Amino acid sequence: MTCLEAQSYIMSFVEGKIPESKQDEFVRHMKNCKNCHDELEYYYTLIVGMNQLDNNEELSTDFKNELEVKLNKMEHKVKGKQRMRFSAFSVFLAGAILVIFLVYANCLNRVYNFEQNSKLSSQGEYYFSRELDGHLFFSDRDLVYESEINNIPDEETFYERVHLYNILFPAE
Ligand SMILES: [Zn+2]
Repeated sequence: MTCLEAQSYIMSFVEGKIPESKQDEFVRHMKNCKNCHDELEYYYTLIVGMNQLDNNEELSTDFKNELEVKLNKMEHKVKGKQRMRFSAFSVFLAGAILVIFLVYANCLNRVYNFEQNSKLSSQGEYYFSRELDGHLFFSDRDLVYESEINNIPDEETFYERVHLYNILFPAE
């Protein structure tokens, strides 16, 4: 906030009508810029004093101190709001981190499962022979004989036999 801008808000400050969005910058400027602070003190004393006279109130004895109290109050209020905003942001951030973590964990889980599955399928033959070793090689059953039996073609139908005969001995 420039000095010009800060001084343009002096009247609003004295009347207690300074926009909330400007309070932070205004207070900071008034606490750090002696020129503007003097200006503020001058107008504050003038306006508040005149109002007190107009309303037949008791005149303040320490305008300077009153002004400091007002500025400090505003600074406190602004900082409180910033803290609130910050803590709200922290909660949001914590939530976001949690979500990211969960998504990440889910992804890890998927990658893990995918790798397990691909390992399993690439080692499929190994597992197969390990699990079935006993059955395949030390069985009482004659697996070779059984497979030959299974591969014997079904008996040909009469039509098929005729068909085959016609192929082998085509009619002249
Ligand atoms: Zn200034």
